[in-house]
Amino acid sequence: MFDTEANKNTVFAKFEKLSERVDKLRAAGRTPFGMRFDEMLSQTRARVGNAEILLAGTNNYLGLTYDADVMEAAKQAIDTHGTATTGSRLANGTYSLHLDLETDLKEYFGAASAMVCTTGYQANLAALSTLAGRGDHLLIDADSHACIYDACRLSDAETIRFRHNSPEDLNKRLSRLPAEGARLVVIEGLYSMLGDVAPVAEFVEVAHSNGAMIFVDEAHSIGCYGENGRGVSQAQGVLDKVDFISGTFSKSFASIGGFCVSRHEALELIRLVSRPYLFTASGSPANMAAARASLKVIASDTTLRKQLWDRVHQLYSGLTDAGFTISSPPGPIMAISRPDEHVAVAEWNQLMDQGVYVNLAVPPATPQAKSLLRLSVSAAHTEADIDQLIAAFRGLAKGD
Ligand code: PMP
Repeated sequence: MFDTEANKNTVFAKFEKLSERVDKLRAAGRTPFGMRFDEMLSQTRARVGNAEILLAGTNNYLGLTYDADVMEAAKQAIDTHGTATTGSRLANGTYSLHLDLETDLKEYFGAASAMVCTTGYQANLAALSTLAGRGDHLLIDADSHACIYDACRLSDAETIRFRHNSPEDLNKRLSRLPAEGARLVVIEGLYSMLGDVAPVAEFVEVAHSNGAMIFVDEAHSIGCYGENGRGVSQAQGVLDKVDFISGTFSKSFASIGGFCVSRHEALELIRLVSRPYLFTASGSPANMAAARASLKVIASDTTLRKQLWDRVHQLYSGLTDAGFTISSPPGPIMAISRPDEHVAVAEWNQLMDQGVYVNLAVPPATPQAKSLLRLSVSAAHTEADIDQLIAAFRGLAKGD
């Protein structure tokens, strides 16, 4: 309950409507806002209170959070380097671990430069806000992740949005720009909410033919798409043409951290001036070591990717057979649009009652203000796990 009187004319007054909205959603049952996982049991199971819950709303696409080599690397890093660096990359926060990881990333992507940041959010902020300066033009997909929007706010460049996944609209907007100022196009490989894939190859063509560079955030696609898991740019055969790729260690890499790689060596220069890179402590030794160990698996182990895609197809056909419309073609992220957030919350509760956790995504976190039940698939899901998920959704369809 919001105390209108006590909060009047304070910094909290503006949150009254938000508080009312959350109260209404809570009245419909428990909500995922502030939800607690009491104990992790595996990559795909957790204890919540007394219940064992099947997790289908993580970003643990390859299930590497409990991989023996990844865990051992993190433990060893703590034993050798301690728990934290306590400093910025530019001061005392660059260990051999950070540099080795950058070398590995360069090799993996065939890039000329690589910059490791403390989170993926910061990697986008660090790269975009610094690369695009005053007088430049940042052209971003309308469905871009919040950190791309935030990077634009931090940059002095002019920001222009183009229609989601529309190279035609981008082309139109690029052709209207004045000749002055550099141009940078920003897209994502795989979009995190609706699970749709960008036509990266077409975007590369449109960007380059209009004198623009192209930046692809492959946060959700690395590990899942492309022959060596290098993302949608690799899957569409244009990895060597993309100017910048950013990614995160918080999803397939089973760690925390982020990076930007580029075929241009000059990216190295922004380390000296990029505020989100400079004015924060570097990634912890355990996180850097875990990311390195995961990269080895992602680059060499094709069985996990195959397992992931087998489960993706199983879930996709199970849910469509049950009468649900999935927002995109089969992929590791599947979203089901609900009529409004109250229906979505009620169904999310029913799924929890059946021992299944998915993501509840509501505006403003969603494109077109949709209310979504968002599922993500992991290579660690078993066939039986996917059957359990489908059965839980069938329960919803029947109104059980
Ligand atoms: N880019 C995209 C597209 C994302 O979805 C996310 C995180 N959800 C990020 C960047 C930020 O990653 P991190 O969790 O490492 O901050």
